[in-house]
Amino acid sequence: MAGKLFVVATPIGNLKDITFRAIETLKASDLIAAEDTRQTKILLDNYGVNVPCTSYHKFNLAQKTRSIISQLTQGKAVSLVSDAGTPGISDPGEELIKQAIESGIEVVPIPGASAALTALSVSGFSTKRFVFEGFLPHEGKRRRRVLRKLVEEDRTLVFYESPHRLLRSLDDMLSILGDRKLCIARELTKKFEEIFRGTVKEAIFHFSSKEVLGELTIVL
Ligand code: SAM
Repeated sequence: MAGKLFVVATPIGNLKDITFRAIETLKASDLIAAEDTRQTKILLDNYGVNVPCTSYHKFNLAQKTRSIISQLTQGKAVSLVSDAGTPGISDPGEELIKQAIESGIEVVPIPGASAALTALSVSGFSTKRFVFEGFLPHEGKRRRRVLRKLVEEDRTLVFYESPHRLLRSLDDMLSILGDRKLCIARELTKKFEEIFRGTVKEAIFHFSSKEVLGELTIVL
């Protein structure tokens, strides 16, 4: 009988943000495929999960996908986790999930945290309809091209951004999308959690005054 692939969401910071079902599933797995095994080990040790881990990240996708699919077809239960949040959401997982489905393997979601929905839920903006844009391109020209396509978009926009590109992205947002209201959720669920609400210009002023640290999600 074919095994099952469990797509297990893990916390985006606070280790307590994991479900009972996620821990049970991890404990019952034959193998855990993790984006960074050292990072995942901290979580597993915290919950007494003693299951072998294998790395599954963007640099070994093709070879690891083959090997994991082969274990799944032999009947193994494999849990896929990323460093934080839901696997496959701006994280490795898509390819393995796609190939598991094509190979007739059952794919079981074990839902939990995701930074995009967590930020959106406290943004104060319309959550009826929204667009998840993930990371904007690093390169300025390509980033501005993506933003120009969003000028007419009237749904709430959600972006992931890294601290060292934040100001450049905000500058481009200001010149292309205008001085809209936004919410920047920084270090959600962690010790230095900050939820900034203001306009794009106010955000530029606020985040220029000190070094930007940590993980950020922008809701606009
Ligand atoms: N799969 C993850 C999820 O479901 O949230 C997202 C992984 S993506 C590689 C990492 C990005 O998510 C970060 O660069 C940041 O934009 C956002 N992010 C992750 N954790 C966050 C947190 N605690 N607070 C704010 N944003 C976060």
